[in-house]
Amino acid sequence: MSKFFSVSHNSKKSKARLGKITTAHGVINTPSFVAVGTKGTVKALTPSILKDIGTQVAFVNTYHLVTHPGAEIIRQAGGVHKYSKLDIPLMSDSGGFQVFSLAQNTRKARVRADEEPLVVKISEDGVKFRSTYDGRLIEFTPEKSMEYQAEIGADINMAFDECTYYPATHEYAQKAMARTHSWLERCIEYRNEKPSKNQYLYGVIQGATFKDLRRQSAEFVVSKNTPGVAIGGVSVGETKKEMREQVEWVLDYLPKDRPVHLLGVGQLDDIIDLVKYGIDTFDCVEPTRLARMGTIYQWGKGEIDITKTVFKNNLEAVDINCKCYTCLSFTKSYLHHLFKQREILGYTLSTIHNLAIMETLFAQIREEIAQGSV
Ligand SMILES: [Zn+2]
Repeated sequence: MSKFFSVSHNSKKSKARLGKITTAHGVINTPSFVAVGTKGTVKALTPSILKDIGTQVAFVNTYHLVTHPGAEIIRQAGGVHKYSKLDIPLMSDSGGFQVFSLAQNTRKARVRADEEPLVVKISEDGVKFRSTYDGRLIEFTPEKSMEYQAEIGADINMAFDECTYYPATHEYAQKAMARTHSWLERCIEYRNEKPSKNQYLYGVIQGATFKDLRRQSAEFVVSKNTPGVAIGGVSVGETKKEMREQVEWVLDYLPKDRPVHLLGVGQLDDIIDLVKYGIDTFDCVEPTRLARMGTIYQWGKGEIDITKTVFKNNLEAVDINCKCYTCLSFTKSYLHHLFKQREILGYTLSTIHNLAIMETLFAQIREEIAQGSV
């Protein structure tokens, strides 16, 4: 079996590095963007379009797939790669982020009205809740999360963690961190008892906005020797400065021989600095979500709102500096027209372009690391 992760070059200027993550569904050259495909689809794109763009890896959400269509159906279909035809390396999260934000919202909802609470039980063990769609009782514990992720079959899996809400008190953040650590041990134990072929587990660093906790968590998670490590609980409402601090605090603890993923971060203006911190992969919903709202990246020049009237007569390429299918074929005026008419093709063309910009950006970053300028 080939090695899961290898580093081919370390920058002398920063902690940036060039690496390769090898999975059963292909190789990811890092640093890399991870396109978000929450429900087993990168919205508005067919898997073949995604391949043409050059997207190396996509992210699916366990919580969403467990509620719809159900992990069991995906298992019967032969796993999410076969089921969705997303034939590239895939990452899945643990479900922790969604179940805890769901728990938060439900607590608020219960105060507002006396409807049947969605969450049935939150404990040290995990979360139990009833699906609003079909009343099914769904349970998320470390073991259940591992079982679901095995059924879904993504190449890279996250350990079950508690993503602390923002702002959290030190006391609460410490409790949540301790829980995340003991859950990581249970996830590892589960995988040792029921090995999952070609699936690689990442432990998740938590600790909210507290330096001591972040460092403690990084030390603990890295010591567990999971094939990869993720930084979680960032970009949950804190400022950009706080987000970067949370990453900076743990830099010295990150493993040199294993890949590091940053969960839920990847805005254009953050990426280069975070690469310099030594982050290898980033998943972020923004390029695809913004695309569907008509926000179109412009290479090196921020973004434009294609729905604005100013673009009605603009017969220039969507982005004159981009060579993607959308930009080689269509004008700003045409894309404006599609958005104004709410034509489905508009979402497809804008998503192709924004993801192409991400791929171009990461290719450039990899080039710059290789040449020694980053
Ligand atoms: Zn383009």
